[in-house]
Amino acid sequence: MIRLRDVGFRYDAAGTSAPVALRQISFEVPQGGFRWLLGPSGAGKSSLLRLLALTARPTSGTLEILGSSVAQARRAALARLRRRIGVVHQDFRLLPDLPVFDNIALPLRLQHRPEDDVRDEVHSILDWVGLGSRATARPPQLSGGEQQRVAIARAVIHRPALLLADEPTNALDEYQANRLMDLFRDLSGLGTTILVATHNDALIRRYPAHELELAQGRLLRDG
Ligand code: ADP
Ligand code: ADP
Repeated sequence: MIRLRDVGFRYDAAGTSAPVALRQISFEVPQGGFRWLLGPSGAGKSSLLRLLALTARPTSGTLEILGSSVAQARRAALARLRRRIGVVHQDFRLLPDLPVFDNIALPLRLQHRPEDDVRDEVHSILDWVGLGSRATARPPQLSGGEQQRVAIARAVIHRPALLLADEPTNALDEYQANRLMDLFRDLSGLGTTILVATHNDALIRRYPAHELELAQGRLLRDG
């Protein structure tokens, strides 16, 4: 589960010039909970996802992720925690020089999984995302939608305890977006906590769920 208490965040913690990206954010998500993360551009959604992905630290307040208090965690503990988190970045962040197969295999290899398992798991998820024939392609050879599906496959292949997705459907068609929601539902049923930042109103209407709504760095709604 994740728990935030009065979390504040500004990008330039030392100076006073940087805008405050998040103010006094408090909420909890139980293990296996699903949340839409909503709000206009600049509201703080990406900043919040950065804190949850442990790539930035709160400027104030307390953040607990999967039972660990982030401020107190040591470097090694944070690294272990990070491996239990899957992230779908808005800009995909695939490694351009590595084949699709190896991009998706990364989280499993970080866990030192046997190469036979890696092969089976990667091929099965490649089939699931409809990219079974693209295993040896490099990301720059793929369309935006294909790259986004690779990013999704990489984020979920190791069955993370926490899955964070920033606009994960913006390059997908309606059919693929619906399949992604089916995947999210399955994963949350298996205990993965999921936060999805999106502007896709049609998708939110098709899949109503608990919403966290941000505006100007504040949490307006939790319900
Ligand atoms: P959203 O994802 O909802 O569009 P962001 O979290 O990106 O919102 O932005 C929240 C605030 O933080 C905005 O005022 C934005 O300008 C600022 N911000 C975002 N990224 C940075 C950054 N790397 N450095 C400084 N300020 C940033
Ligand atoms: P809470 O987080 O408050 O325990 P749930 O996570 O059980 O609530 O879900 C609240 C609503 O969101 C339910 O209507 C459920 O059908 C829907 N929902 C739950 N998980 C998903 C998911 N992965 N994708 C889409 N909708 C979901």
